[in-house]
Amino acid sequence: MSDDNDSSGIIGAIISVLILAAIWPYLLALLGIYIVYMVVLAILAWIAEHWVLTGLYVGGALGIYAIFYYRLIPKAWKRGLMYFQPKPIFISLSGASMEENVAEPPNLAERKFIPSTNLYCYWCTKKLGIKVWEKNSKYYCDECINNVSSEN
Ligand SMILES: [Zn+2]
Repeated sequence: MSDDNDSSGIIGAIISVLILAAIWPYLLALLGIYIVYMVVLAILAWIAEHWVLTGLYVGGALGIYAIFYYRLIPKAWKRGLMYFQPKPIFISLSGASMEENVAEPPNLAERKFIPSTNLYCYWCTKKLGIKVWEKNSKYYCDECINNVSSEN
């Protein structure tokens, strides 16, 4: 009898230890939830007591978050730069338009253009201005190049 009681008592102790081992994480979680609940209650009480200060803190935090989230600093910087930049002025150009200038493009493919002012025409020995033409390594003015070209 006594042996049975002892064995049953030992078995009961082992079972209770096993049950405790099985449920202790849940107990710990319950304890944690209770602690968090108490902390939240304390925070809520503090907020209820100092609601103006809390509102200021929350507003400041939201403002800082918005500044970084919407990148307000570079936007404001760009806007300021745009504000201080000089605005472009549109001028209507009178006289020959671009289309009129391009209407008759000169056929200069076969004649080499030499932009020099220190040369003399091979044909008429006139001092060459801006328009200088080269043909067979000789330089001609704008008028004589047509004669030379027509001769050949
Ligand atoms: Zn010439």
